[in-house]
Amino acid sequence: MSATAKPLKKELETQRREVVARWLKIYAAHYGHTLDADEVTAIQKSLGEFSPAQLEAAFLKTMEERKEFFPTLGQIRGAIGADTSGPRAKPDCGVCSGTGWKTVERDGHRYAERCSCVT
Ligand SMILES: [Zn+2]
Repeated sequence: MSATAKPLKKELETQRREVVARWLKIYAAHYGHTLDADEVTAIQKSLGEFSPAQLEAAFLKTMEERKEFFPTLGQIRGAIGADTSGPRAKPDCGVCSGTGWKTVERDGHRYAERCSCVT
């Protein structure tokens, strides 16, 4: 087995699917409503642009906010959008790999600088 510094795109995809599937199971227990496999797949596809960490936070936040009814996809997406605790980098940025920071060298020293993809 070879160790890689950051997960491959495919592994991220797998992680994301696992996060969504796990949370939908938690939701099923919590809200008393089970989604069928097609619905789970559709939601996994729909949330494909977000990182596993963003999804974890959004599902948790949504569950805290929606006490009675199974949240809609829009509400889950809304929780991701509302999570503006700080500037956000593009997850697939070629410069910073989604960390939001790039290394620059000045006067022989290395500094961390905000990546230009951060909005
Ligand atoms: Zn970047």
